[in-house]
Amino acid sequence: MKAERNKVVFIHYSLADESGSPVEDNFDEEPTALLMGHSNMMRGLESALGGREEGESFEVTLKPEEAYGPKREDQLQRVSKKHFAQPKRLRIGDLATLRTEQGQRSVTIVKVGSKFVDVDLNHPLAGQTVQFKVKVVRVRDATPVELAHGHAHADGQDHH
Ligand code: ZN
Repeated sequence: MKAERNKVVFIHYSLADESGSPVEDNFDEEPTALLMGHSNMMRGLESALGGREEGESFEVTLKPEEAYGPKREDQLQRVSKKHFAQPKRLRIGDLATLRTEQGQRSVTIVKVGSKFVDVDLNHPLAGQTVQFKVKVVRVRDATPVELAHGHAHADGQDHH
């Protein structure tokens, strides 16, 4: 079965940043399930997956606009230290978890003051050309519930 719109695709993948350093890898874990045609993944990865067969492996290089987007200059923000889970351990250049009203968000520390911290809200891979290595483990038809929800469910788990 081919990966195409309204199919659920199970993939193993690894992701490397612009310098080729590994960022993520799920080859030792359960494959990730994605519903094709419902914006479950970045555009570039979805178009590279289209038409692939079960068992197929491929590599794809994605420009920022097909992956995590361009790095935006207006994403710097000054926030109070109290919004951080571990305010004493903030170091410039580190990724930290910021608690916002919309939930948790990963940010890069730019400057640390006594009460306030300047953070960059850009995704750490924004502005970078990234590389995916992908193996298509399995392809199946989406269930009606998955189509209604607009995302894939691990098998047999339509309730969540
Ligand atoms: Zn659901």
